[in-house]
Amino acid sequence: MLRFHNTFKRGKEEFQPPDPGKVGIYTCGPTVHDYAHIGNFRAYVWEDLLCRYLRYRGYRVTQIMNITDVDDKTIRKADAAGCSLKEFTERYTRAFFEDLDTLGLRKADHYPCATDHIPEMVRLVQALTERGFTYSGQGSIYYRIAKFPEYGKLARLRPEELRSTGRAESDEYDKQDVRDFALWKKTKEGEPSWKTEIGVGRPGWHLECSAMSMHYLGESFDLHTGGVDNIFPHHENEIAQSEAATGKPFVRSWLHCAHLMVNGEKMSKSLGNFFTLRDLLDRQQDPMAIRYLLLSQHYRKPLNFTLEGIRWAAGNLVRLEDFRRRISSEPAEPGSQSALSAAIRQAGEKFHAALDDDLNTSAALAAVFDLIRVANTACDQGGLREDDRRGILDLMKAVEEIFGIPLARTEPEAEAEILSLIEERTRARMAGDFRRADEIRDTLAERGIVLEDTPGGVRWKRPR
Ligand code: AMP
Ligand code: ZN
Repeated sequence: MLRFHNTFKRGKEEFQPPDPGKVGIYTCGPTVHDYAHIGNFRAYVWEDLLCRYLRYRGYRVTQIMNITDVDDKTIRKADAAGCSLKEFTERYTRAFFEDLDTLGLRKADHYPCATDHIPEMVRLVQALTERGFTYSGQGSIYYRIAKFPEYGKLARLRPEELRSTGRAESDEYDKQDVRDFALWKKTKEGEPSWKTEIGVGRPGWHLECSAMSMHYLGESFDLHTGGVDNIFPHHENEIAQSEAATGKPFVRSWLHCAHLMVNGEKMSKSLGNFFTLRDLLDRQQDPMAIRYLLLSQHYRKPLNFTLEGIRWAAGNLVRLEDFRRRISSEPAEPGSQSALSAAIRQAGEKFHAALDDDLNTSAALAAVFDLIRVANTACDQGGLREDDRRGILDLMKAVEEIFGIPLARTEPEAEAEILSLIEERTRARMAGDFRRADEIRDTLAERGIVLEDTPGGVRWKRPR
């Protein structure tokens, strides 16, 4: 039984989409004014794992991730860079897609840009106006929160946190209540704007997500994800807009990931404590180790980021890769060995049960590492059998597919060449040609490959 923690309920619940086997997911995507930092990628990599696991479990998934290509920041920075908004945001949208590829994320089904969906946003504002949820002030259109009594139901804020503190404290002086927010913003002279039935202006950020999610997934859909910082006000406002306009429940389950932290603080642009993916690649860090690190902790627990953490993740990856290679190449008699078969079955059950239980990735990986210890001992004692080999490789394949981390990263041709050099070295040693044997060991060492002579034959590793 697959269970997710629904922020709305503050607890885990069985995942049961009304259309069995089909899932619609909306993911709040990047505002493309700069390179995304790896805190942002914690959210995106986890959302990728969520989609991968649902597909692994047989669901047909439609994932939508928006691209916010118009807001105060994009406009200001495009202006400072001396280029058009489109030119500027396209540059960072391209960079974002490159980063997603580097980190091994599967493509979402659509990446709608806000500027391509202005008519849908205008229609949503019109629907809200017809139902009395809006008012205008100096060319902007606001959402009247007092008209939506359920406001605050997702964030569960205390009434005093939601109470109006008066017009004077608001930076938008034409708002009637400080909690109200702009659906449609009047633009200043020279700013990008759209001439529409509701006036000349541009959409507010919250409006973008309501309009695009409902456009692609319908008025009610299954899963909406983001980082915990999105809960309030962004997702609260999305609910207020969507449910007021349609009269229907907007999202069935809200899933939020905890933050990537640096010394106890959220990694963020504003605190300046961030690394972009590119910063880390410049420091020769392996993107798959970064991905592993981001997925190694359960998504609802904060994860502290350090370079040491990436080294730890790289070490774990090497262990997984070495293990997969050893199991693939170890000599094995036919049949199975009861103790090892039981350990494999148990590891598989624990792995899947952990992921079924709100994507508990750390428990799932722990089950795999327990098996590695048992299976390595069995191999050391010559106890690997064909059926067990197959069982282990099936589990390793599931790890690769769900975590999105390839464990056979050496090209097959390179692997064949390494194996033939190892065989040549063994022959040279048997013939007493130790000079040639050492030469081959050195050649491989230059390529970062370390040989290990074991009772089961020569094994190779590529320590990182
Ligand atoms: P933003 O560009 O700030 O709107 O963030 C894009 C996505 O990254 C959102 O889902 C945020 O919740 C998420 N996010 C931002 N900072 C972090 C962080 N330090 N850790 C995890 N997720 C984050
Ligand atoms: Zn959003």
